[in-house]
Amino acid sequence: MENKSKTIKKIIIAVIVLILLLLCISIMIQPFNKATLTQFGPTTDRQMMGYSIKTKNNKLIMIDGGNIKDAEQLKQYIKQNGSKVDAWFLTHIHTDHVGAFTQIINDEEIKIEKIYASICDKQWYEQNEPSRQEDIASFFTAIGDKKIEEPQVADCIIIDNIQFKILKTKNPEITDNAINNSSMVIKVKTPKTSILFLGDIGIEASNKLLQGNMKEELRSDIVQVAHHGQAGATEELYKEINPKICLWPTIKWLWDNDIGTGENSGPWKTMETREWMERLEVQKNYLAFENQVVLDI
Ligand SMILES: [Zn+2]
Repeated sequence: MENKSKTIKKIIIAVIVLILLLLCISIMIQPFNKATLTQFGPTTDRQMMGYSIKTKNNKLIMIDGGNIKDAEQLKQYIKQNGSKVDAWFLTHIHTDHVGAFTQIINDEEIKIEKIYASICDKQWYEQNEPSRQEDIASFFTAIGDKKIEEPQVADCIIIDNIQFKILKTKNPEITDNAINNSSMVIKVKTPKTSILFLGDIGIEASNKLLQGNMKEELRSDIVQVAHHGQAGATEELYKEINPKICLWPTIKWLWDNDIGTGENSGPWKTMETREWMERLEVQKNYLAFENQVVLDI
């Protein structure tokens, strides 16, 4: 009887030691095993959008990147992280998103393994936004004959243990706010969280997402606020996403709706979007102009 209770005691102690050992190992491994998301800030007084994701095995994924003048900060960042981009996603070809990319794509010191984008014909861009001829031309010149991977809706690109699911691609049938509405929408899923990148979508693309068969995928922990936080996606879309955290690729004057004569003196709709997020009880807003944010994801 005594022997039996001693054996049970020994087993219990062994199990406790094993659990403690496993806990120690997992705590030790964790710092090397984290994926991170970086939100870049503007280096000029122009609005921009740029993000990077580093996987647990140090694969580097870029999403947009900002204006031509933001290229230098991005180049330095990529070089500090091994000079190789495993995948570069472009939401749409406006220069505040792809300007930096056009300066890096032909940089011989940086290797870009894959470019994912949903690109319309050059003629479609020129017809729908003729005032942007120069930006359109410089994007297509920079791309040259480089291979662009053209994902389809519901495609899932997996890099390490992170999924990039495509919820929306170009929609050339929408010609109002044409290029913004043709933004590719990407849902990033990690074992820990989900992040929705909306690019610069507007009302029409918001409705398309709400009416389409990817609606079930919209709900996300974190959302990149569309069109820099104003005159972008609709309140109905954000309600469906129901985010806990917002990433604002926004510059200070736009956040404050300040045309130069004080808060709320401008024509922008940022305050409206800020109110929506308050109503949705968003817990944290990360503002690109404040500092470069790095989140564990
Ligand atoms: Zn933009």
